Amino acid sequence: MNIEFTSLIKMMQAIPNEDAAIEYFKAIRWKHGEFCPHCGGDRLYHFEGGRKFKCAAPECRMKFSLRFGTVFEASKIPLQKWLYAIWIITNHPKGIASTTLSTDIGVTQKTAWFMMHRLRHAARTQSFNRQLGGIVEADESFFGGKEKNKHANKRGKDKKVVVFGMLERGGELRAHPVDSLKDVKSEIIAHVKPGAVLMTDEWTGYSRFNQRFWHASVNHSAGEYSANGYVHVNGMESAWALIKRQIYGIHHWVSPKHLHRYISEATWRYNRRAVETGGRVVEMISRLDGRLTYKALIA
Ligand SMILES: [Zn+2]
Repeated sequence: MNIEFTSLIKMMQAIPNEDAAIEYFKAIRWKHGEFCPHCGGDRLYHFEGGRKFKCAAPECRMKFSLRFGTVFEASKIPLQKWLYAIWIITNHPKGIASTTLSTDIGVTQKTAWFMMHRLRHAARTQSFNRQLGGIVEADESFFGGKEKNKHANKRGKDKKVVVFGMLERGGELRAHPVDSLKDVKSEIIAHVKPGAVLMTDEWTGYSRFNQRFWHASVNHSAGEYSANGYVHVNGMESAWALIKRQIYGIHHWVSPKHLHRYISEATWRYNRRAVETGGRVVEMISRLDGRLTYKALIA
């Protein structure tokens, strides 16, 4: 299925009804294969002509709709209208009035306002391309397996994965699983603006960034938790605690293979923790093959 349109007319021709809108959304969201939004498992049962799904993983078995975990979740607005709205909003970067959108797609002004609010919020908070600046706390933590085994490295299913996180103070959190020190290095280079103040623990792996960033570290083993009041990674540590509570509170078992999905979902929620519950339906427009729509949204 063609997922890029050069005009609204072409989009409307390709997506003339709700079924086509669902197929379109599937083509983008599951571009790399279908997956369960609860556990990341990749074997699903299909129901209701491909509108409902059930995870085949024995530990999970969750039922869900395609909208789950997206901007469209908990909204009764047809997917077709959402897609048209996204096209219209992203192609009028200077903004349109909700009354205009309301007339264009045939919804009430209140609904149009709601849709725009959510799409704008998604655009504002999903800053993929922006590097983190100011003071950035960097820290690593172990994930995977069962929470009760978190202090031990277990074999097989309970294998631990190192997740590397960067938190901009007063800003955004980014976290991804890493395999090696080399990955940590590329994470920092990709996500942290040169000249930022990098706060880490005393792990020697960080010392190599001294030339690129202002680097300050805190020596936990010496009981030095906050040397000058501002040299600490406390923000990152509370982020880990929150993310772990979230992940292990829902899932009793976490597959290392799919850990990145839990982490990205938890990070997404973390970055929206100040948003009222209703606002969390806001997408992962990133999952609409992200950058495409994101770029358009902020263009
Ligand atoms: Zn599942």
